[in-house]
Amino acid sequence: MSFIPCKICGNTTSGFLPQFELLKCNTCGFIFFKNPLSETYVKELYDKLYNQQEDYAAYKMQADQLMQGKQAPIGYDKTVVLNKLLEKGCSNFAEIGAGVGIVGKYLESKQLKYEGIELDHQAATLAAKAGVNVKNGSFQQLESIKNKDCIVAFEVIEHIEDLKECLQMINHSLKSNGYFGFTVPNFQKYYNQSKEKQKTRLDQVGPPVHINFFTIENISEILPLFGFKIVYLKVRPFPSLNFNRKITYIRLLKSLIGKYHGPNILCIAKKIKEAV
Ligand SMILES: [Zn+2]
Repeated sequence: MSFIPCKICGNTTSGFLPQFELLKCNTCGFIFFKNPLSETYVKELYDKLYNQQEDYAAYKMQADQLMQGKQAPIGYDKTVVLNKLLEKGCSNFAEIGAGVGIVGKYLESKQLKYEGIELDHQAATLAAKAGVNVKNGSFQQLESIKNKDCIVAFEVIEHIEDLKECLQMINHSLKSNGYFGFTVPNFQKYYNQSKEKQKTRLDQVGPPVHINFFTIENISEILPLFGFKIVYLKVRPFPSLNFNRKITYIRLLKSLIGKYHGPNILCIAKKIKEAV
């Protein structure tokens, strides 16, 4: 047992994979980095990350495409989640972690209402330049967003220190029967690795960048605590398809025989009551 309570449900936790300084809740199964991060630290961390040449180049390329009026590819996971939300009749969206606005562009091209929030100033500026409705700020900007059909967050909530507050605010910004659609890395992919690699690698970006870790099981426990009913919850079964790498073929084979933990979890939850 540890002395630190669960960030989500407040119940007891136990040390988990101590080499990565993680804790796991004994009740809801939530896995998180045990050292809280200060806001100043997080700001500096992301300033540094966004200024890394490679990441910035990828962003810049997407932003260039958007500025030329083209749709930058949104990928399999986002396509699946967004199409399901469109089938449910959602037409008024907000997004947390909007980046340079590729999801916003996609939705706006379908004449849907969209507002995005992006923590990084540079990315938000690029999105605005491409004419996408993205504002710079943290998830706390949700305060002024009300009555949305849908809020989406793609690969975002694994980064958020105040996850409890964030999930409460998402609930409050949705109209009743509105939807929260998101994707996160699947913690279980850690177990795709050899025992040797498990000693030193999480197989996803570790703390302090990713600080919250999700499984199908803990998402099933956590979302109902915030007034949500899960209506879609799946692991993408196949790996990222980089056909220049041998590991892609090995993983594909393993996924065919059910011995591969897929890389990402896709989820849609419906607001069935106000979160308290
Ligand atoms: Zn818990």
